[in-house]
Amino acid sequence: MSCLCDQCSALCCRYFVLEIDAPDDAEDYDNIRWYLIHENTFVFIEKKKWYLGIYSRCKHLQVDNRCGIYETRPQICRKYSTKNCDYHGGEYEWSILFSSGEQFEEYAQKQLAKQKSREEEARAKKRRRKARKPIFQSAMMAMAGIGPAGPNGAAVHLGKVNGNGNGKMNGNGNGKALLSLPVLRK
Ligand code: SF4
Ligand code: SF4
Repeated sequence: MSCLCDQCSALCCRYFVLEIDAPDDAEDYDNIRWYLIHENTFVFIEKKKWYLGIYSRCKHLQVDNRCGIYETRPQICRKYSTKNCDYHGGEYEWSILFSSGEQFEEYAQKQLAKQKSREEEARAKKRRRKARKPIFQSAMMAMAGIGPAGPNGAAVHLGKVNGNGNGKMNGNGNGKALLSLPVLRK
């Protein structure tokens, strides 16, 4: 019986992809840049997960584009379906794809700047909360009649304590789910 693979130049046997940890600090970003300054590598983010891809032909791919170890090929090869494989072309599901160290460096600098600004904002919020605490405590004590009251003996009026209003994390799902890669997941 004819199979789609018979018409294909074995596109899926010419690279592999591994899931990697999402970068968290400057060193992590620099390590990913290091992957990308090597030839035949790419890195992409798909559904908030990070992957490293390496273009490298499988040693068992024969000149006629058939598998030389078909009967004992790895499970990942067996599971990869022709339904949405590389053969069909079109878009992949990744939201960002990096193919060079320079491209990634630019992205990393922006992300690290955002991260720094978020950390500074969190520290400032913490400081503001600490500054409010004594007022809140003394007001509670006044209301309970166990501490200093406000003017005229009335309970101290409390200002509203705001929630911490964190920014929303935007989803990044740009790409449409049309194709999948044979990924070895952690
Ligand atoms: S699974 Fe798809 S990409 Fe891989 S050899 Fe078959 S047709 Fe080609
Ligand atoms: S083992 Fe066979 S099916 Fe798997 S990548 Fe190599 S050539 Fe392709």
